[in-house]
Amino acid sequence: MSTLVTGIAELVTNNPRLGAGPLGLVPDAAVVVADGAVTWVGPASAAPAADRRLDVGGRAVLPGFVDSHAHLVFGGDRAVEFEARMSGQAYDGGGIASTVGATRSATDEELRARLGALVAEMRAQGTTTVEVKSGYGLSVDDEARALRLAQEVTAETTFLGAHVVPPEYAGRTDDYVELVCGPMLAACAPHARWIDVFCEPASPHAFDADASRAVLAAGSDAGLGLRVHGNQLAEGPGVRLAVELGAASVDHCTHLVDADVDALAGGSTVATLLPGVEFSTRSPYPDARRLLDAGVTVALATDCNPGSCFTSSMPLVVALAVREMGMTPAEAVWSATGGGAAALRRADVGWLGVGARADLAVLEAPSYRHLAYRPGVPLARTLDLSQAT
Ligand SMILES: [Zn+2]
Repeated sequence: MSTLVTGIAELVTNNPRLGAGPLGLVPDAAVVVADGAVTWVGPASAAPAADRRLDVGGRAVLPGFVDSHAHLVFGGDRAVEFEARMSGQAYDGGGIASTVGATRSATDEELRARLGALVAEMRAQGTTTVEVKSGYGLSVDDEARALRLAQEVTAETTFLGAHVVPPEYAGRTDDYVELVCGPMLAACAPHARWIDVFCEPASPHAFDADASRAVLAAGSDAGLGLRVHGNQLAEGPGVRLAVELGAASVDHCTHLVDADVDALAGGSTVATLLPGVEFSTRSPYPDARRLLDAGVTVALATDCNPGSCFTSSMPLVVALAVREMGMTPAEAVWSATGGGAAALRRADVGWLGVGARADLAVLEAPSYRHLAYRPGVPLARTLDLSQAT
């Protein structure tokens, strides 16, 4: 069963061979999809016939957002901590322990309900691919449980046992790293595509370069791809370690020295920026312009989590990237779609053309520019192809 999507005022393909500029823009466009994949893209005047038709009425269509960094398996919330932070308390990652307690005591059903609600919330805002990390269980059974639940909603699951050192291992970081690299990894690897580590020597709760290297090496040996939380709170070794080990992405990149930017520019690691975190922790934003001007591939993601950034909104992230980080609207839209796909090393999402998945987002607006131009307005949603007639 094929479906012709028509009435597209502006189509973002992210393929410069299909349209104008880096976003590959096609005005007055149509898309044909069949069996979950795109089979034709081009001007509406040249569109082939299809079994069904869906007219989007002069709206813009773009690839669904690829949110390559999210923590969605957790219990409780930290609204009170947020309020305290807005009253001047600094963020150092220490509040993660309270979510660990709430997550461990939650039932599978409670965790599944929260996870499902957040994925639905994302989808309603145009996100069609999401990565989900563990990292609030921090015991062998609780981490494996988080990843089993995450696998129910996405193929992009990430083992983050090295999120922080849990309270019962306080002062025994080496013992905890041994657990993460041994029994915890063995229990989690079957349910994960990636491994991640919070490499942040500036935080008393996270991991230094040696511990991070050990975790990533063990994950790589277990067949997992590598991701790193790095350089969020201060300059540090995370970015260069990620590039050295060939990680798919290093995320945050808020505090960089020239050597970090040079390493990213010379490597294959994507820099994933998470400006919702700086917004929600009232911190200085990363300098996207510096990275882009150096030729680094930049992705944007939410980091949706109950502590440092509890938004599921990629449109908010796009607006922040433009307003606060020196990105153009076109760069921000690419980074939130094609950039996210690059950060997950996915060739089938983040663009629209023959061979891409039929993951379409539609805007209540005629152009992608409105995403940054109209902040806070719910413009984006995932296009529901079942509405075709
Ligand atoms: Zn994170």
